[in-house]
Amino acid sequence: KNFIKLKDIKKIYKMGEIEIKALDSISFSIDKGEFVVVVGPSGAGKSTVLNILGGMDSPTSGELIVGDNEISEYSSRELTTYRRYDIGFVFQFYNLVQNLTALENIELATEICKDPLEPYKVLEQVGLKDRKDNFPSQLSGGEQQRVAIARALAKNPKLLLCDEPTGALDYNTGKSVLKLLQDTSRDNGMTVVVVTHNLAIAPMADKIIKIKNGKVESEEINKNPIPVE
Ligand code: ADP
Ligand code: ADP
Repeated sequence: KNFIKLKDIKKIYKMGEIEIKALDSISFSIDKGEFVVVVGPSGAGKSTVLNILGGMDSPTSGELIVGDNEISEYSSRELTTYRRYDIGFVFQFYNLVQNLTALENIELATEICKDPLEPYKVLEQVGLKDRKDNFPSQLSGGEQQRVAIARALAKNPKLLLCDEPTGALDYNTGKSVLKLLQDTSRDNGMTVVVVTHNLAIAPMADKIIKIKNGKVESEEINKNPIPVE
């Protein structure tokens, strides 16, 4: 049933004589449609986990399985295809193209996809159809993050990866963005992984994975995720 499986993932960065163990045998699994938060302090290995899940980096050893595919065996060419077709990315600072409108940002992302969704429909789904012709500079932080989420979803990915998606937002705006991510997993069956240092986000997730010093400290199924108001 597990959709994603990480098994004994190690990541060692070599800097001359020095070896930095960023991930020290990380194992966990994710079900399809699950909303997962990976939480831990700075330096815990969160970005490294996200980069490996997203095919931006390869583990030194261990297995990553997504669906029926063994991603950890992929060549760099296969990883490029995996990033392009299978993964949607959402970043802390939105990373929108400034001289394109909200709708054009989404259209651009769908151009290289196999089976994209209709950009305008996705913009509508995130509550921004009236903002389609606005440029990023004309949108609030929360709206820009919604556009970024729409852009990621429009690729019709298998997995949505979010790096501190509320990190640049105030509390209430952050909550509404989290609600959008929660709805995306609940209503659309999207598998969503958020990495954050912010423990306050954890109660909203279906599964909470705490990592520290490159190890899984705990993995907790949350039977009653708090609905974000
Ligand atoms: P987090 O995202 O939780 O802050 P990271 O995954 O960025 O943690 O980093 C985990 C550890 O790996 C840290 O000690 C960090 O310094 C180290 N690290 C991350 N990326 C690199 C890299 N490219 N080269 C060397 N060390 C790295
Ligand atoms: P952090 O929050 O760890 O300081 P970022 O949020 O800037 O770092 O990025 C997290 C990771 O996502 C980076 O290590 C990088 O590999 C990847 N990344 C950032 N921006 C992009 C992008 N525009 N396209 C693809 N990958 C990106």
